[in-house]
Amino acid sequence: MRVLLIGSGGREHALAVGLAADPSVEELVAAPGNPGIASVATLRDVVATDPVAVAELAVELGTDLVVIGPEAPLVAGVADAVRAKGIACFGPSAAAARLEGSKTFAKDVMTAAGVPTGRSYTCVSAEEVTAALEEFGPPYVVKNDGLAAGKGVVVTDSLAEARRHAEDCGRVVIEEFLDGPEVSLFVVTDGTAAVPLMPAQDFKRVGDGDTGPNTGGMGAYAPLPWAPADLVERVMAETVTPTLAEMRERGTPFAGLLYVGLALTSKGPKVIEFNARFGDPETQVVLALLASPLGGLLRAAATGTLADFPALRWHGGAAVTVVVAGHNYPGTPRTGDVIEGGERPGVIHAGTTRREDGALVSSGGRVLSATATGADLAGARAAAYELVNGITLEGSHHRTDIALAAVEGRIKV
Ligand code: AMP
Repeated sequence: MRVLLIGSGGREHALAVGLAADPSVEELVAAPGNPGIASVATLRDVVATDPVAVAELAVELGTDLVVIGPEAPLVAGVADAVRAKGIACFGPSAAAARLEGSKTFAKDVMTAAGVPTGRSYTCVSAEEVTAALEEFGPPYVVKNDGLAAGKGVVVTDSLAEARRHAEDCGRVVIEEFLDGPEVSLFVVTDGTAAVPLMPAQDFKRVGDGDTGPNTGGMGAYAPLPWAPADLVERVMAETVTPTLAEMRERGTPFAGLLYVGLALTSKGPKVIEFNARFGDPETQVVLALLASPLGGLLRAAATGTLADFPALRWHGGAAVTVVVAGHNYPGTPRTGDVIEGGERPGVIHAGTTRREDGALVSSGGRVLSATATGADLAGARAAAYELVNGITLEGSHHRTDIALAAVEGRIKV
């Protein structure tokens, strides 16, 4: 089949590597792609959030399957436009992508479906904000209601900071703090059948020891040696099945990738958020371990035939990815810094571009992620950091404790 992959980040580079390894994928085009993706796919330029442009490109290329990586094109209706041309598309409709696009909508669906999640209020006025913050007490959790590229959430003990974030956002969801280790579960679904991938953990805070502001994610690992044996089964039964049923009932079935962000609280797994696409950087580790053909899996979800897809196969061992971020990230990052050692296998590109002279330079905040597998978590971790040590990027920073607590057996549920 001919596959068109939409996006240009690390998640799309990982997807491209997975798709290119599937023998049923004869041709892989990525748009707009990045210099890392260029090593496994042909690149075409497109405005990823322009539904008409993407649909026309898919037609021009004789595409059999379009795979949409990021959330913004989904919310903009790119999947709808592609399907309207009669082309199979992996990614939910704009109506279903509201599960990610609006925190209020997601909470509404969770409540209707009886999904375990934190109590919350949607607030607009300063009075509503004050009342909600007072009710829940610290640590305060204040979420921008709309899309914010993973950076719209503030978790803080400071009432002033919580208030300031609410003011900056306008419309916010204020939620009770959920205490417990976090898990990201990716579920591939055609709207009815649903196949969970391997749970992973990511690292949201910029600094070692989970300090500093939230980011788009600084690293990830899988599998989770500390996770309860029934975790996936429980989340499928308590959260995924009822959510998909609720979406079907509303006439907006969710087909694509349902990302369930969970906190494993003392009262069981509770949903922190839904996303409508693969998470970055968890995709890097989950796909590194997937042995089943990725293109076939995504096509089955896009064509409503997931129930017939063979049970997933996984490589043994573990995978770790460490994000190498540009100077000042998650603040406005400096760009244009020259990257050395960025073209080795396992180095995933997210914020890179080529200068006219051919040099690889940084173009965003999360520049690269170094992804490695190993016989166990300790081995994968050592290999990932060895890759990181081979990369030079002026002013860059990375966390040094990705997967460390898991390797040392310090995570308790
Ligand atoms: P979100 O964009 O909703 O995933 O939030 C980003 C990050 O903020 C999450 O990965 C958590 O680390 C943190 N967070 C969000 N909501 C909560 C909550 N209710 N309790 C504790 N931490 C939270």
